[in-house]
Amino acid sequence: MLNVPSQSFPAPSSQQRVASGGRSKVPLKQGRSLMDWIRLTKSGKDLTGLKGRLIEVTEEELKKHNTKDDCWICIRGFVYNVTPYMEYHPGGEDELMRAAGSDGTDLFDQVHRWVNYESMLKECLVGRMAVKPALPKDYHEEKKVLNGMLPKSQVADTLAKEGCSSPSYDWFQTDSSVTIVIYTKQKDINLDSVIVDHQDDSFRAEILIKDYSYIIHVELSHEIEEDFSVRVVENVGKIEIVLKKKENASWKRLGHPLENHNSLILKKDTGLYYRKCRLISKEGVTHDTKLFCLMLPPSTHLQVPVGQHVYLKLTITGTEIVKPYTPVSDSLLSEFKEPVLLNNKYIYFLIKIYPAGLFTPELDQLQIGDFVSVSNPEGSFKISQFQELEDLFLLAAGTGFTPMVKILNYALTNIPSLRKVKLMFFNKTEDDIIWRSQLEKLAFKDKRFDVEFVLSAPTSEWNGKWGHISPALLSEFLKRSSDKSKVLICGPTPFTEQGIRLLHDRNFSKEEIHSFTA
Ligand code: FAD
Ligand code: NAP
Repeated sequence: MLNVPSQSFPAPSSQQRVASGGRSKVPLKQGRSLMDWIRLTKSGKDLTGLKGRLIEVTEEELKKHNTKDDCWICIRGFVYNVTPYMEYHPGGEDELMRAAGSDGTDLFDQVHRWVNYESMLKECLVGRMAVKPALPKDYHEEKKVLNGMLPKSQVADTLAKEGCSSPSYDWFQTDSSVTIVIYTKQKDINLDSVIVDHQDDSFRAEILIKDYSYIIHVELSHEIEEDFSVRVVENVGKIEIVLKKKENASWKRLGHPLENHNSLILKKDTGLYYRKCRLISKEGVTHDTKLFCLMLPPSTHLQVPVGQHVYLKLTITGTEIVKPYTPVSDSLLSEFKEPVLLNNKYIYFLIKIYPAGLFTPELDQLQIGDFVSVSNPEGSFKISQFQELEDLFLLAAGTGFTPMVKILNYALTNIPSLRKVKLMFFNKTEDDIIWRSQLEKLAFKDKRFDVEFVLSAPTSEWNGKWGHISPALLSEFLKRSSDKSKVLICGPTPFTEQGIRLLHDRNFSKEEIHSFTA
C-alpha cells in the first residue's frame, strides 16, 4: 500500500511534516495517495462528466464551475474538471479552490511549475478556452542565406529593458563541420549557461541569460554526428557550437525553425526540457539512501551549476511523474576540477528511498541501463556570491545535505579567501548520516572544515549533540570571525523555516542567508 493513514501524517519518521506556516502537504484520507489517483485515471471512469467529449469553454462558462463539487480550472489555455482530483491533491482542496472557475496558470507556476499536470490531469480535460488567454508564440523564418545574421526579433525589446543588448546567431560551414555562433553580448556567460540537445530531428540550444533563455531550435537540414563541441569566449559572451557533418555536402540552410526558435523568453515560461539519461550505477550509502549515477546522452551538453537542482521524470503506471533532485559529486573527497567537468557526462544523485513514496520506490526498481529523463537545471543559488567569503556555515537536515556537497567541494577548492567552513548536520539516528566517514576525513584533511552531527532520535550510546535546530545549538555553532559570512540551509520545509527564523534572531541578514527550496 502506498498510502499512509491520515492520523499518522505527518509521521515523526516522515520527511513530509506539515509546516507551521507556508505551503505544505496536507494529510490525505486513506486510499487518496497519488498512486490511488493514477489508478483511478486508468479505471476508465468518466472524470469530466462529458463522456470523453472535449468542448470549447467560454470565460462565462468557466466562472460557473467554482465550487468543490463542480470545479473547473484553466491552465495554459486548457480547462480541467478538478473535482474528482480534490481529495488526492497533496496541497489540499483549499489550495485548488483558490483557482476555482478561473485561470490558475499563475498560481500553478508559483507553486509547482514543474508538476506534469498534462499527464496527471489528462482524464480531467474538459477542453480549450474559447479565447486563448496567451498569444501564440512567434515563429521566426530563417533567412535563407549562408552566414546571414537574422533580423532583430522581439529579443531586442525584452533585453533592452534590462539594459542589455539582444542576442543573435550566425552559422558557417567547412566541408566537415557546421559552426553555430551565438553572440550573447553578455560578460557572465560560461559553459553552465549553455544547454544543447540533439534529439531525433530536433537541434536545440538554450542559452541562459539572467532570467531569460535565448533559444535556437531547428530541424537541421542535414544529418550530423552524435557528438559536438561547445566553446565559450567568456569576455565577449560568444558561444560556438561545432557540429560534425555526416556527409560532406554543402548546407544551403541550417534547418527548419521549430518552436521558440531565435526567441528570448522568460526562463519561467520556457517549460522544462528533458533528455533521457541512462542509469550507470546504484550504490547503497545508508540503509535507505543510494548514490545513483546517470549518464547524459552524447548528443547533450549540460552542466548543472553548483547549488542548483534538476527534475527527474519517470512514467509510473502510464502517468509522467516529476520530482526535484540535487546533483552531487561522486564523493566528498573528490577535488572540484573544472576542466574535468567540461567533458563530464555523468550526474550523481544521493536519493533517499521512501518505501511509501510515489517516485523513489520506482526509481529504486530501475535496472542498470534503464533510462530516466533529466530536466534542465533550476534554482536561484549563485556561487558567484561566494567571492571574498571568509566564513561559510552550512545547516543541513537529512537529504538537505545534497546541495552542500558540491558547494563544499567548490568552496574549499576555489575560494582562496575562505577561512572557515562549518557544517551542522541534523539526522534522526547515526545510521541516517550520509557520508559520515567522508565528512570526518575531510575535516581531518582540511583544517578549515569542521562538521558537527546532531541527532533527533539517538541511541543511549550517542555522546554527541542531540535535539532539533534550536537557539542553543546555533549560538555555539555560528561564531563569525568576520563580516564576510554566509549561511546556507536545507532540509524538511519546517526545519528550514525554523532555521531562518533563528538566523534572523541572531542578526543574520537576508543577504547572508540562502535557503534551498523547490
Ligand atoms: P512522496 O510520495 O512524496 O512521499 C514521501 C513520504 O511522505 C512517504 O512516506 C509518503 O507516504 C508520505 N506522504 C506524502 N504525502 C502525504 C500525504 N499527503 N499524506 C500522507 N502521507 C504522505 N531528495 C533526495 O533524496 N535527494 C535529493 O537530492 C533531493 N533534492 C531535492 C531538491 C529539491 C529542490 C526539493 C524540493 C526536494 C528534493 N528532494 C531530494 C526530495 C524529493 O524531491 C522528493 O520529495 C522525495 O524523493 C520523495 O519523493 P517520493 O515521491 O518518493 O515520496
Ligand atoms: P528526515 O530524515 O525526516 O529529517 C532530518 C532531520 O530533520 C531529523 O533530525 C528530523 O527530526 C529533523 N526535522 C524534521 N522536521 C523538523 C522540524 N519541523 N523541525 C526541526 N527539525 C526537523 O529528513 P529527510 O527524510 O531526509 O528529508 C529531507 C528533506 O529535505 C525533504 O523534505 C526534501 O524535500 C528536502 N530537500 C530539499 C532540497 C532543496 O530544496 N534543494 C534538497 C534536498 C532535500 P525528527 O526525527 O524529529 O523527524
